Amino acid sequence: MCFPQGNDSWFEDQLRRKVEQGDDTFFWSDVWLNNLKLSERFPRLYSLSTQKEHSIKEMGSWQIGTWSWHFTWRRALRDFEVELFNQLLNILQVFVPSANTSDKWIWLPNPEGIYTVHSAYASLLALSTNTGGDVFKSLWYVPSPSNVLAFTWKMFHDRIQTRDNLRKRQAIPSQSDLRCPFCVSQEETSSHLLFSCPLSWNVWMACYKWFGFYTVLPKDGKEHFLQHIYPWRSNSQKQCAWVVWTAIIWALWNLRNGSIFRNDQLDIDKVLDGIQFRSWSWLRGRKKDFHCSLYEWQVQPALLIAAL
Ligand SMILES: [Zn+2]
Repeated sequence: MCFPQGNDSWFEDQLRRKVEQGDDTFFWSDVWLNNLKLSERFPRLYSLSTQKEHSIKEMGSWQIGTWSWHFTWRRALRDFEVELFNQLLNILQVFVPSANTSDKWIWLPNPEGIYTVHSAYASLLALSTNTGGDVFKSLWYVPSPSNVLAFTWKMFHDRIQTRDNLRKRQAIPSQSDLRCPFCVSQEETSSHLLFSCPLSWNVWMACYKWFGFYTVLPKDGKEHFLQHIYPWRSNSQKQCAWVVWTAIIWALWNLRNGSIFRNDQLDIDKVLDGIQFRSWSWLRGRKKDFHCSLYEWQVQPALLIAAL
């Protein structure tokens, strides 16, 4: 799908969060308050937070009918950081989560503000000059968090911030190191980083082994994504398989960022644990007929999906 210049953030631009209990909204990295991510409004605090991936609901608790925030930091805040923290608390005063209702997306192209898969797809098609076909149609049905779907959508269009894309946009100096942070040998393109790099390939293989499958992996993201439906018959089963797929992509991207920005060590077992936990929690939170425990999910994912 090709988009006119300047539409890079089209997907996010069309969506607004309606936060209810804060269960499906990332506190720092979703836009949910004052049209700005809190990670961008308070980058210093964000860098010090040990709760970077927490939902709003996970950032506090109800105690005797009163909501209170619980922030944790890598170290004690310095005076000027305490001042920033007070500013943040001040902004947060306008918000109290609701007790029971789940968060919603408000979809701007729909006059009623309600996000529907069809309005999203129709709106995308209206913008596009070349329809992407079933890949995109399938993506809107995947019950993964919307920021993960937005990332996946960008990846399909080769618009994630890999080093080769940053160079193409002249966002980094031309003499910068463009090598993949995992293998440090090939250029970092999205297809190399997420699919063909030896480390990513090992992560994919570990995931297939977890499912008990052996397969040849396409190097193209769209083909890779579609291949995932192959063993599954019903839409419900395909949704589960794709949640796992987006959890793997998301894990690899976070691993890449952790490796570049925090010098994190690459540990396949740990990555697989994260993928199992994320995919399980996304399915538990968003798919009504998915009831298994994390342990069951870790032990026999294919059997559980087949039973849906
Ligand atoms: Zn590599």
